[in-house]
Amino acid sequence: MVPSRLRLPIYKCGMLIGLVGLILFTRSHGSASSYDQDVFVTVASQPINVGDAKAAALAYYNSGAYQRDLEAVAVQAAGSIDSRAASVNRPALVLDIDETALSNWEILKRDDFGRSIAGPCDLAIDAPCGWAAWDQLGRDPASVPTLHVFQRARALNVAVFFITGRHESQRAATERNLRSVGYDGYADLYMTPDDAHFASAADFKAPTRAKIEQIGYTIIENMGDQPSDLLGGHAEKDYLLPDPFYRIP
Ligand SMILES: [Mg+2]
Repeated sequence: MVPSRLRLPIYKCGMLIGLVGLILFTRSHGSASSYDQDVFVTVASQPINVGDAKAAALAYYNSGAYQRDLEAVAVQAAGSIDSRAASVNRPALVLDIDETALSNWEILKRDDFGRSIAGPCDLAIDAPCGWAAWDQLGRDPASVPTLHVFQRARALNVAVFFITGRHESQRAATERNLRSVGYDGYADLYMTPDDAHFASAADFKAPTRAKIEQIGYTIIENMGDQPSDLLGGHAEKDYLLPDPFYRIP
């Protein structure tokens, strides 16, 4: 005999059975856009699907999470400048440029996260751009969280050095771009020679930081969006900004 408080009307029993059936069906078959690994006969060893990764990167940006995460790192960097600048002789801040000081989101989207360096860039047509041609346009907005770190550093007389993998042939456009969005009053901008090729950006950036130390500065912070911006030492603290959009070795 079932206690009366546990009895359900027939129609409610039917609804409950239907709901359980739907859950079981969804678990075993998935939706049209997602599925459990065990639905198909396949292999588990393949790397992440590039299309899925692009969709995740787009959602990360569009949701505001990317901006929030940039700010989370930058706030720590600004706070550390506040506490360290006054106790160091000739303090310096080193910044990378792309996806650190400046945002390339416009070309990232235009190129569907491709990253061809060569090729033209015609904004009048709906087509991908070569990154070298894009950089010559000098139209990147500032990455605002990093601009705030820059401004904090300058307010405390911390010298700011940019070190970038961009080539010397892009110097005029890059300097114009930096100044036009608020990066005014930096100490120097180091760029790679036009004919140079480095297996890792760290092979250029770490020795450049050593040069900055040799002329008398103490690098209290180094900030970039790639591990290769930071590897190799010559900075008291390293700040890695989020960047799921591309990788520079
Ligand atoms: Mg970068």
